[in-house]
Amino acid sequence: MLRVFDFVADLDLEIALRDAAARVLASGWYVLGEEVSAFEDEFARFCGTRHCVGVGNGTDALELALRATGVDRGDRVAVVANAGYYASTALAAIGAEPVFVDVDETLTMSTASLAASIQRVDAVVVTHLYGRLAAIEPIVALAKDRGIAVIEDCAQAHGAARNGQRAGSFATAGCFSFYPTKNLGALGDGGAVVTSSDAVSERVRALRQYGWSAKYRVEHRGGRNTRLDELQAAFLRVKLPRVAAWNAARVSIARRYQRALSGLGITLPDFSDDEYVAHLYVIRVQHREALRACLAEAGIGTDVHYPIPDHRQPVRALDDVDLPVTDTACREVVSLPCYPGLSPVDVDRIIGLVRSFCASSPH
Ligand SMILES: *Cc1c(COP(=O)(O)O)cnc(C)c1O
Repeated sequence: MLRVFDFVADLDLEIALRDAAARVLASGWYVLGEEVSAFEDEFARFCGTRHCVGVGNGTDALELALRATGVDRGDRVAVVANAGYYASTALAAIGAEPVFVDVDETLTMSTASLAASIQRVDAVVVTHLYGRLAAIEPIVALAKDRGIAVIEDCAQAHGAARNGQRAGSFATAGCFSFYPTKNLGALGDGGAVVTSSDAVSERVRALRQYGWSAKYRVEHRGGRNTRLDELQAAFLRVKLPRVAAWNAARVSIARRYQRALSGLGITLPDFSDDEYVAHLYVIRVQHREALRACLAEAGIGTDVHYPIPDHRQPVRALDDVDLPVTDTACREVVSLPCYPGLSPVDVDRIIGLVRSFCASSPH
């Protein structure tokens, strides 16, 4: 079965990762050491921010960034509802409330919907979904007028840029996950908060380690233990210089799909250079399950990112939220395989299957 995401054999990479592991093993230092510091410097430079603080995973990155910008129990935070419940999980940990805002046809936060809710919120989380930059500039401008923070969820958008400016550098802080399948992935869990604010960086640094301002001195409320470890940082340092090439490979696969699937009556993602790093290639079809079954029969795996919007998750079941674009999208989206190393032959085979599905079924 061809998977939606896979790792491709790369001997040079494997040797470099083994060397990195050996280096950490020989150092005898496993948590918050030289590898993490070096990675933080390198990743801040990559994002174009002054600081980077490594943490345990992407969800913790969101929680700590929110806490560091002052979000607290009972506060209300604008989020989209089609991005996997990660921001909602971070808010639940804080005891803050999500205020769900609809997306527009790009499937990222609608500036108009946010404008309608902005008076009711204390902060905003913007998700660069599927590897595509959201309309972050007008959102930051709206929030600035209100004097509230904007956090970018960049877990699917490592390296995505508009006019040379990269995801994570537009707002108060940017949050990354290094889950293995992300565009920059560790060999386990990992995450980071990037920011150009000294105050936010310092607070996240304290919050990732019990709220310490100095060893054994707890000064910050809401502290956690969520640290990036030396092994993962060493692996990430090996992979970071390769991200640009991997992103380019992803985008060229997305373009190949795009050219061959247009004009079939299915909705394709609309993207332009650099603003999309093709974390996922997501199309929209009305008969999603039929298409998935047809591909599965031919040995092609697909996935749905994401089937249940946050406001309809069983744990919440709020029925007073009206998010028509989000609800429709969650019924129609389907992700086709897209990862560096997926061969053009396989992409063409998938294209052939989608085309014949469209020719033979009403959609
Ligand atoms: C993966 C992901 C996260 C969460 O990252 P974890 O490291 O799994 O906690 C957050 N937001 C988005 C958009 C993601 O894709």
